Amino acid sequence: MSDHLVTPTPDNFAIWYEYHSGLNPELSHLINLLLTRPRAFNEQLLSSIYQRFFVHAKERAALQDTATRMMAVLQEVSGVVEAASADADRNTTSLRETSRSIPTEAAALPALIARLRDEVQEMAARSARLGDHLVGAVERIQALERSLHAVQRDAATDSLTGLSNRRTFDARLRAAAGMAMNSGEALSLVFLDIDHFKRFNDTWGHQVGDQVLRLVAATLNAQIRPSDLAARYGGEEFGVILPTTPPQDAVEVGDRIRRSFEGKRLVVRNSGQTIDGLTVSIGVACYDPGEALDGWIARADKALYAAKAAGRNRVVISAAAA
Ligand code: GH3
Ligand code: MG
Ligand code: MG
Repeated sequence: MSDHLVTPTPDNFAIWYEYHSGLNPELSHLINLLLTRPRAFNEQLLSSIYQRFFVHAKERAALQDTATRMMAVLQEVSGVVEAASADADRNTTSLRETSRSIPTEAAALPALIARLRDEVQEMAARSARLGDHLVGAVERIQALERSLHAVQRDAATDSLTGLSNRRTFDARLRAAAGMAMNSGEALSLVFLDIDHFKRFNDTWGHQVGDQVLRLVAATLNAQIRPSDLAARYGGEEFGVILPTTPPQDAVEVGDRIRRSFEGKRLVVRNSGQTIDGLTVSIGVACYDPGEALDGWIARADKALYAAKAAGRNRVVISAAAA
């Protein structure tokens, strides 16, 4: 790190540790590339690498922060409730004493009644204050709940397209494979890659490229059932998990997705020009119970590249696992 003038902060150590562990090929590739450039590692770049590869850590910190704030609210509430119940005990004692010393002569009654009125008024005022405190606490807890949900949603979502991200996809794929093994039901995987996507970027710029990615995500999402899961797998590649779907049906879904792009036009923001000719290639692989997940993914990927090789804008299904 010092060779490359990288400040030894915890975040930077995390990057270097991960790099040297070799566990993250994408990170290793990026760092290797940057190592060939003199003075490549400035603070901004390092921070963006950290954000990109260590979002889990970011999420964990946000969760921890929420938990800490939740504890503070709870402590405050229990403090207020304890104080209120101590006061109520004092009132009860005072009322009991009053009731024991009920005077017999009428002349003393007005003073007694006045004392009772004061005690009860005081209790009512305290209840109101407690109520206000508790309403305030409930509002703060609700705000915490909302921010917690937002953190969880952000951690599961691809920010550009709004689809699930790679992390959600991996978790759902594992869960779906487990369920398929238990139930004996079919399970299919569809990989989609935009054809000649580089051309969109090169011709129209990255912002239009991003617009294309959002259009593809929305188009894809409109073709699947709520029980399916579509995710942005990486760059311009998308994955769809289709539970309880046998091979022939998965190919049909894949082809329906493919056809849904025919005649799709994208109106470029600002210039108003239209882009058409957007096509996608699709690879399908059905889960072979017991096969390794990465083997299954590799089969879907191979089928996708066979679709590319065969001329693009088509669906290819992988042969069953070896
Ligand atoms: P093919 O039909 O073989 O898939 O051709 P392709 O041009 O789509 O494939 P290639 O892998 O050569 O290029 C993919 C390009 O996608 C390269 C990269 O610049 C671009 N890309 C990846 N992620 C993003 C992104 O988030 N936004 C934008 N605008 N472009 C991206
Ligand atoms: Mg492509
Ligand atoms: Mg690609």
